[in-house]
Amino acid sequence: MRVLIFDEIEYDNKIKHCCELMSQFLLDPRIRINYFKKFRGYYLDTTSGAYQTIFHCPFCCSKLPQNLMEEYYKILEKEYNIDDPHDEEQENIIPEEFKSDEWWKKRNL
Ligand SMILES: [Zn+2]
Repeated sequence: MRVLIFDEIEYDNKIKHCCELMSQFLLDPRIRINYFKKFRGYYLDTTSGAYQTIFHCPFCCSKLPQNLMEEYYKILEKEYNIDDPHDEEQENIIPEEFKSDEWWKKRNL
């Protein structure tokens, strides 16, 4: 089980989500739902501080796009030999494209 570090939750209102309610609630800090574009993942922010992945939109019931977190770690390890991106030394060699949604868009995932 990997430890999730959400260091860069962003509220990017240019991203198209499944429905208007999802877009609206992602921008509302009172609603504990987040989109992490680096992983293309939707998460519920629980009161214990943990993030729970969600697979369907709670508002319109659409199936959400595949979460790419596992792929992210796999590609970093395979292509860049980075097996622990949260390690301080390895963190410094993570290519820039892996700090946003650029890596998966470039690979058409
Ligand atoms: Zn929706």
